[in-house]
Amino acid sequence: MSIAKEKIVWFEKRIADFFKKGGREHLPWRKKRVLAYEVWVSEIMLQQTQASRVILYYERFLKKFPTIEALSKASWEEFLLYYAGLGYYARGHNMLETAKTVMKEYGGIFPRDRKLLEKLPGIGPYTAAAILSFAYDGDYLAWDTNLRRVMGRFFFGGKHLVSDETFWENKYAMPKKEMNAALMDFGSSLCVARPKCEACSLKTRCVYYREKGKREKMTQKRKKWTLSGNPKDMRAIVYLHECHKKYFSSVRESYKPFFLPVGYATRAGIKEYFKKTYGLDVSVRPPHKRILVNKKSAILIRAQILLGRPCFRVFPREAISKKILEML
Ligand code: SF4
Repeated sequence: MSIAKEKIVWFEKRIADFFKKGGREHLPWRKKRVLAYEVWVSEIMLQQTQASRVILYYERFLKKFPTIEALSKASWEEFLLYYAGLGYYARGHNMLETAKTVMKEYGGIFPRDRKLLEKLPGIGPYTAAAILSFAYDGDYLAWDTNLRRVMGRFFFGGKHLVSDETFWENKYAMPKKEMNAALMDFGSSLCVARPKCEACSLKTRCVYYREKGKREKMTQKRKKWTLSGNPKDMRAIVYLHECHKKYFSSVRESYKPFFLPVGYATRAGIKEYFKKTYGLDVSVRPPHKRILVNKKSAILIRAQILLGRPCFRVFPREAISKKILEML
């Protein structure tokens, strides 16, 4: 993944110009000085919920719980009064637990260390990077779908074609706080699902624009393939995550995803398995890949926890073997 430095500088300059004119500086969590607590609340609420919808919830929530101390003392019922409507209650449980942990273990101040942040319930690499860059001016890219889409399209022609955030973190001269905000805004206003390329100042050097999005369409087509063969004879290998944290089965040896018994390789089957076995409500993505395990067909699938408290181990990103990540 080698990119000419000059192209990166060019990209950065246009993104900075866009931000000066089109940045969403009106968002309440985009103050000059923002507390780690405020960034955290906004980022959790923004997970799979649009910013325009979150604003009202965010302001009401902070009025009721202006500090992490106040939040840590709230009961679940009290908390729900200010959170209900945002869905995904696993996130809510994690918020309360994190508030209590930060009070107990860090004296009410979010740690400035990425690894420590990622150990807190519901905080994954993206949220940790957002807290560090927005609240502590840390040198981290908050690698979310917007960043992936913009950079994947511009440099490689497709939103799925960019990877390895640590590589990108070192590439920019622009402060990461500004870079993150600019790319998030760019990705949610111009480089959206159906990109508004004609209005985009990056189009002259954008690979996606030059190729008319062909590469992205090709990868999407591959992603959408449906199963051939009878799912009743297959095994599902499920890669389970929640808020960017990855859960691996503790049943087998370390770092393996969940190997479901034969007969559960359908959307409904996987949902039923996690409900029955772990009491979790999950949403299931389309099959990612088909592989052979002991000469038998198996499918790799991603699923996300929607509701329920997982009772198995969370492995930090760096502990996950490269092989498994490649497989998924
Ligand atoms: S030209 Fe289109 S695809 Fe490329 S960065 Fe701009 S909006 Fe995105």
